[in-house]
Amino acid sequence: MNSRRINICHPGYGASCSLCCGSHNYRMDIEQIEELLLKRTAAGSPPPYKHPYIVNHEKLYRDAMQCPHVGLSEDNEVFCLIYAEPDKKGEILSFFNGTCSNFFCPAWDVLTDKQVIFAARLMKDWFYYSLLINDIEAVQDLCASYSSPDDVPEDVLDELKEDILDRFVAEDGK
Ligand code: SF4
Ligand code: SF4
Repeated sequence: MNSRRINICHPGYGASCSLCCGSHNYRMDIEQIEELLLKRTAAGSPPPYKHPYIVNHEKLYRDAMQCPHVGLSEDNEVFCLIYAEPDKKGEILSFFNGTCSNFFCPAWDVLTDKQVIFAARLMKDWFYYSLLINDIEAVQDLCASYSSPDDVPEDVLDELKEDILDRFVAEDGK
């Protein structure tokens, strides 16, 4: 893994990612997902423990996670509701230690801190930042074409968002 100082999952600038936990794995639009995640967060901590493989809503990707512990903060950042919970037990504890704490997506190996910050400053959100940071080539192309996210024209940004969402949805294999 690249030696880095930036936490790609929470790089700052209003950006955050929980894609691998299944934050986008719903047959819902963004507003509906946000409503669901906010409701979950408002229900308080610790939430009732459920195995991260439990599925409560129709999935976009049959074989990917839709963890019921992804929440959305008041600052509009996705996060794990049980991450800091000291009382994780049984199969949750074992899944958490075995998988959650040890998973790093390809961005951790491939992208530089500078590229991560570029993506975070460009998107400043949870939905599109997550998609972009998992679309390595798109991040590399952007960084090669623009010296700062401020230089990316509005229409290019709109098109990029459409493209990365289309690519993500098209990958569901259906
Ligand atoms: S997909 Fe990568 S950046 Fe996103 S939460 Fe998982 S490990 Fe972090
Ligand atoms: S328990 Fe937390 S870290 Fe693990 S998959 Fe669920 S939300 Fe992600």
